[in-house]
Amino acid sequence: HMPTAELQALDAAHHLHPFTHGHDLNKKGVRVITRANGVTLTDSDGNEMLDAMAGLWCVNLGYGRDELAEAAARQMKELPYYNTFFQTTHVPAIALSEKIASLTPYDLNHTFFASSGSEANDTNIRLVRTYWAEKGQPERKIIISRMNAYHGSSMGSASLGGMVPMHEQGDMPIENIHHIGQPHWYAEGGDMDPEEFGLMRARELEEKIEELGPEKVAAFIGEPIQGAGGVIIPPKSYWPEIQRICDKYGILLIADEVICGFGRTGDWFASESFGIKPHIMTIAKGLSSGYAPIGGSVVCDEVADVLNGCEFSHGYTYSGHPVSCAVALENLRILDEEGIVERAGKETAPYLKGKWEALADHPLVGEAKIQGLMGSIALTPHKESRAAFAADKGTAGLICREHCFANGLVMRHVGDRMVISPPLVITKDEVDMLADRAWKALDLAHKQLED
Ligand code: PLP
Repeated sequence: HMPTAELQALDAAHHLHPFTHGHDLNKKGVRVITRANGVTLTDSDGNEMLDAMAGLWCVNLGYGRDELAEAAARQMKELPYYNTFFQTTHVPAIALSEKIASLTPYDLNHTFFASSGSEANDTNIRLVRTYWAEKGQPERKIIISRMNAYHGSSMGSASLGGMVPMHEQGDMPIENIHHIGQPHWYAEGGDMDPEEFGLMRARELEEKIEELGPEKVAAFIGEPIQGAGGVIIPPKSYWPEIQRICDKYGILLIADEVICGFGRTGDWFASESFGIKPHIMTIAKGLSSGYAPIGGSVVCDEVADVLNGCEFSHGYTYSGHPVSCAVALENLRILDEEGIVERAGKETAPYLKGKWEALADHPLVGEAKIQGLMGSIALTPHKESRAAFAADKGTAGLICREHCFANGLVMRHVGDRMVISPPLVITKDEVDMLADRAWKALDLAHKQLED
């Protein structure tokens, strides 16, 4: 391929990037990733990096599995495209929806396909409103979500999300979406006991339902563990209380498992890890390990019965794209048959937990939390008070991220939190490497912040 500088110049000239300050592309250049295998990325200069983010929280299976490429090629030759509208279907969509039903807990047995998590959450907005209208309660339109949630980038899904800068850029949220506080004890819990704080935040749901009128509320949506918000693992008290409130008011509970699903938290789904019983589950990312774009809304029997009783006027050209379905099916087959999810939960997760939590001893780290293969550390100038860095210091997280990159580790920063979500196939040796490189990057960031 062309020299890196030429690729960077062309990219800056013609490619608009998501979540990137455009001027930085000109100033610093973009990192060009050319190849990947297992947990290792290679860039256009031949540098290798351990990808502790599994791309964007999605390459659960790891890179470079030929079986998925072969499944895509086979499907492209046999039936590259057909739709699932107007009483038609095809074998990959049938097989995948059946496989998903066999893996998801409870009676979450029916999948409405989309191409991404954003589309799937947009589907959910229309789906729950249609459900209530069909049940003779069309006034139930409101969906309650949380501040600092991330549910996608389309108008509907970003409105469900609670990211203030996103809302400000697009005149969001759209109507009938409301937000309550997040269960983020470290940043917002002050002197409260974490479990008390978890209960308090969950009870904001009940207060909001009462304030808005229970007869107007359609659903609550939440990520079992907030991912893009900084891997916020809620106190144990939180989800049971949310579940109790949803049950009490008879509102639908949507678990957004786009990141958490398919082994990330050590179980197939985080709803199992937290004992959540959702009516609807949003899935994407790990469904195909990112090898092909696909997402979906998995609904329980009762919701499916109601939707099947009408024509749900909703769908995407690529709802159940045969190539994406074939790739996802092969991905799930391998995750399942090779015992990758089970091994990640039972062997890798406890080992990684030990290494990750030891980072809490670093002077720059206020807390180090992890569940399954999804972890975060909070950077702080003062451990005891959990203080945040002053804004004019530059973002500590950004500084740390750059030291990670320079030392062969891809870790993402969310403000001053560093987050990881490595491929489930990461080995113990690679976990050691991850922890060593993270410690080194913390040392360098610490020194830079003190200078
Ligand atoms: N929901 C959650 C919890 C996510 O983390 C994301 C993406 O990161 C989405 C939805 C949106 O998915 P997509 O980027 O595939 O549209």
